[in-house]
Amino acid sequence: MMLTRRTLLASSAATLAAGALPAFATTPHSFKHGAFEVTVVSDGHLTLPVSMLAPNAPPAERAALLQAAGQTAEQYNSPTNITLIRTASDLILIDMGSGDRFMPSAGKLWDNLKAAGIDKAAITKVIFTHGHPDHLWGAVDELDDVVLPDATFYVGAPEWDFWQGDNATRGLPVERAGFVTGARRNFAAIKSKVKMYKAGDDIVTGLRAIATPGHTQGHMALALAGGEGLIVGGDVLTHPLISFAHPEWKPTADHVPDVAIETRKRLLDRLATDRSKLIGFHLPYPGVGTVERKDGAYRFVTIG
Ligand SMILES: [Zn+2]
Repeated sequence: MMLTRRTLLASSAATLAAGALPAFATTPHSFKHGAFEVTVVSDGHLTLPVSMLAPNAPPAERAALLQAAGQTAEQYNSPTNITLIRTASDLILIDMGSGDRFMPSAGKLWDNLKAAGIDKAAITKVIFTHGHPDHLWGAVDELDDVVLPDATFYVGAPEWDFWQGDNATRGLPVERAGFVTGARRNFAAIKSKVKMYKAGDDIVTGLRAIATPGHTQGHMALALAGGEGLIVGGDVLTHPLISFAHPEWKPTADHVPDVAIETRKRLLDRLATDRSKLIGFHLPYPGVGTVERKDGAYRFVTIG
């Protein structure tokens, strides 16, 4: 998510007035998928300005979808759903949440895992979809110590290169400099334990990386084998109505909007064709569902 510090402060103050979305469960949601046991754990939620949601879309159509989503206030709550995958030999976390320094309503992952009786020390691998604060900043604690010192961290090579390189700061509004500083701080802390991955790589057997650029330059989704497939979509599809009905609209959080549109359309087509399950990081908790074609576009159908 792309935000300024000022919006963040305003957002926090407006939390109670935020638009309605389902409550954020603290109880993990688990199900079997092929050889894997999948658990979605909430990291809490972000409170964001509604103005981030496709501000340049046709106003009447946009207003109707926001109304349907219950997002008529100036702020809305965006869930943050983290996926945990248990294999025969690994416990794999996909993204690490916001940690302590992004928003007070987020950074609940470790508490929610503990409450569910899951020992975070048992996590062997962490795979990052991208380097935004709500996905990466949970890598370190408030003292900048690595939260999972024994895990191996998988970072997409193009994402690593983006945040480390000059392109991360080139043309960046000064208010967003904190995103780059934060990404570099977290990546530096885990650097000795990082393994780079690229699209097409199998992190473990049956868990393959898919190139899904646009939201960030090196954004990756993960495809889990079994049944009709399951895709952990990261931030390709972030809104339960807009992302599906209007993949061509441009949320301000996307770094490369035109590429993000192509990626959304490609992933939606794949999900609808294959009837795969989707886990959406910002979709209403637990963010698990399927995608159907509707009126020349798509719709998200929640499962359980
Ligand atoms: Zn996000």
